[in-house]
Amino acid sequence: MRFLNTILDIVFPIRCISCETIGADLCLKCLTESKPAERETAEWVFPLYDYRHPPIKKAVWLLKYRGKKKLAGILAEAMYGRILEELAELSIMENFRDPILIPIPLSPKRYRERGFNQAELIGKKLIELQNSSPRKSFVLEKNILMKIKETKHQAQIKDRRERLKNLTGSLAIKNAQLIKGRNIILIDDVTTTGATLNEAKKILKQSGARKVIAFTIAH
Ligand SMILES: [Zn+2]
Repeated sequence: MRFLNTILDIVFPIRCISCETIGADLCLKCLTESKPAERETAEWVFPLYDYRHPPIKKAVWLLKYRGKKKLAGILAEAMYGRILEELAELSIMENFRDPILIPIPLSPKRYRERGFNQAELIGKKLIELQNSSPRKSFVLEKNILMKIKETKHQAQIKDRRERLKNLTGSLAIKNAQLIKGRNIILIDDVTTTGATLNEAKKILKQSGARKVIAFTIAH
């Protein structure tokens, strides 16, 4: 199998999904040249890139719908740097310390269909990156926030009230004792209206979380 993979790498080398340079699924040049997200969302939400920027849109799409999981690692590396940067300030300014990473969950049905949760993959990679550095800042908990109701895609609902109704009651908390008084970092791939993140923040705060912030790949 390894031999076959080597042959495949020679015949079909890994190319950047955007510029097609050989080497990585999304090359460093394309990544660093990607347009940063405008901070029009809430101040507790930190999106990395502008979702309209084609390489980013393509990367997120390939990860989610084509299972190109290596892209989760590349995107997580960019997110990792940003999290450390923000934590350096937040730990001093807001006493935001020892946070718990919580990926935005998929419903069990969608999880079965897709076979993985892209936000969880990013979270796992963030932990891997942290484990190879001397500084330990956070832990990952994927059994706290649960999606208990299948929802329509928020982008497909035009009316704002309908969008909120769509999400109400869609999330639930398990093991609430683990988050009492704790700082939380929500992780997601894309935030559009921010409604899902708002709903998650609301329910986490109701269950006793101290402060909740969120990092996403794109907005
Ligand atoms: Zn490239």
